[in-house]
Amino acid sequence: MHALRQTWHPGCFLCAACKKPFGNSLFHMEDGEPYCERDYITLFSTKCHGCDFPVEAGDKFIEALGHTWHDTCFICAVCHVNLEGQPFYSKKDKPLCKKHAHAINV
Ligand SMILES: [Zn+2]
Ligand SMILES: [Zn+2]
Ligand SMILES: [Zn+2]
Repeated sequence: MHALRQTWHPGCFLCAACKKPFGNSLFHMEDGEPYCERDYITLFSTKCHGCDFPVEAGDKFIEALGHTWHDTCFICAVCHVNLEGQPFYSKKDKPLCKKHAHAINV
């Protein structure tokens, strides 16, 4: 097969992380190394601390508490009210609204 202007045995064209051949699936390049879709996302994308899914280009996101969040995931851990642009508190990395700032079970 041909990829990256080189010829590879299909069995030698492997994901740099999990060492699995790509077959016909998508891959991404990073630093000259090919990665499968799954590893590329795991290794190189920013993950939302709320839902654990990657924050993709074009997604609205918030940087807070040392993490990145989708704007829709930055919610109070107790009542789930959206905290974007609101005063918020935190406990164990989780955002809390003013009303639940002292919630014990988060
Ligand atoms: Zn992989
Ligand atoms: Zn999220
Ligand atoms: Zn709340």
